[in-house]
Amino acid sequence: MSTSHHPRSWVTSANGHPDFPLQNLPFGVFNRPGGSRRGGVAIGDFVLDLQVAYETGQFKGEARVAAEAARKGQLNAFFALDATSRQALRAELFNLLAEGSPQQQALQLLGDALLVPMGECRMHVPAHVGDYTDFYVGIHHATNVGKLFRPDNPLLPNYKYVPIAYHGRASTLCVSGTAVKRPSGQTLPPGAEVPTFGPCKRLDYELEVGVWMGPGNAVGESIGIAEAGQRVVGFCLLNDWSARDLQAWEYQPLGPFLSKSFATSLSPWVVMAEALAPFRRAQPKRPEGDPQPLPYLFDEQDQAHGALDIELEVLLQTARMKEQGIGAHRLAVSNTLNMYWTVAQMVAHHSVNGCQLQPGDLFGTGTLSGPQVGQFGSLLEMTEGGKHAIELPSGETRTFLLAGDEIILRARCRKEGEVSIGFGECRGVIVD
Ligand code: MN
Repeated sequence: MSTSHHPRSWVTSANGHPDFPLQNLPFGVFNRPGGSRRGGVAIGDFVLDLQVAYETGQFKGEARVAAEAARKGQLNAFFALDATSRQALRAELFNLLAEGSPQQQALQLLGDALLVPMGECRMHVPAHVGDYTDFYVGIHHATNVGKLFRPDNPLLPNYKYVPIAYHGRASTLCVSGTAVKRPSGQTLPPGAEVPTFGPCKRLDYELEVGVWMGPGNAVGESIGIAEAGQRVVGFCLLNDWSARDLQAWEYQPLGPFLSKSFATSLSPWVVMAEALAPFRRAQPKRPEGDPQPLPYLFDEQDQAHGALDIELEVLLQTARMKEQGIGAHRLAVSNTLNMYWTVAQMVAHHSVNGCQLQPGDLFGTGTLSGPQVGQFGSLLEMTEGGKHAIELPSGETRTFLLAGDEIILRARCRKEGEVSIGFGECRGVIVD
């Protein structure tokens, strides 16, 4: 694939970079050793310090207003801006960092004051998350999990009408690289009539995409489907760690509670909606016989362009694999085209009752499994509820996660004639 006609960056590591070429420019919050938290933009192997860029007067007009908000230690004020302000900053960053930029020499003179080697940066959750909601729009995951409980009737009757979700816990969202402590809780051992208390024995991951909310709505108002897509700032990877044995005992009738609220990992970079524009697709056609979405969830434009084509990957590396120098083992590949509902439908549904959404609110899509073996986004599905262990290149086997296991999520967008972009990684190691 030739991409030679696409603009390149004078930050040479950006050209051909698997995640962060000039065409991506994701936003995040970082600090360098001993430094304060501030906004940054990933470009190749570097983080552009937005505080320094702002203070040295690199931005003008609307882009300067947006940079003033984005340079801070949390991106909420930036997320609150309307899409045109965001786009102005993105356009100016693109011009500043492109080969042949009139500012190139001046920017290069700033050296690592402006462009910090990514390896020296500590990343943070990029915004204060007021509320976190985890959806269930991966229809193959919903079907696979439903089959474990109801082989003849895996999907409940509401699934094709309602974008199902549960309210998650914002306080335990953590950035990639944070260790995940195995939770304890109540479980009902097989055949037992009363529960026992102890460490979770069926610890699992969920391969999901995170959705960062931009401008929200007032209490009592709602965001219509036609404008809902515009209210989303960007996307990240999300691992909804799940204690399956706690979940099985507690989930009826109100859904997941302590089985999910102990940790949720996020990749640190917010891949902006604008960067994903080339990878928009038509929402896949619903199977024959499925109902049409109700009118408040149906929009022609959203159906024509509201889906995303993002390749997803989940890998596992155990402590023994690390000791033996064995690289991470790929467990599954999937794609965001496995979403039964679009992101705009999620936003429209969430707010239709007058529930307030705010800048920096976070949605999870739900586990994004594909229909085939090799495309399952959780161990629950891969092992059919723990019945079949998976084999690893170290000779180890797993049904669920053990101490020292590291789960790595990755995502990439590829399209003929476009420069590929990636999301970076979402990592977490289990500790007991
Ligand atoms: Mn989930």
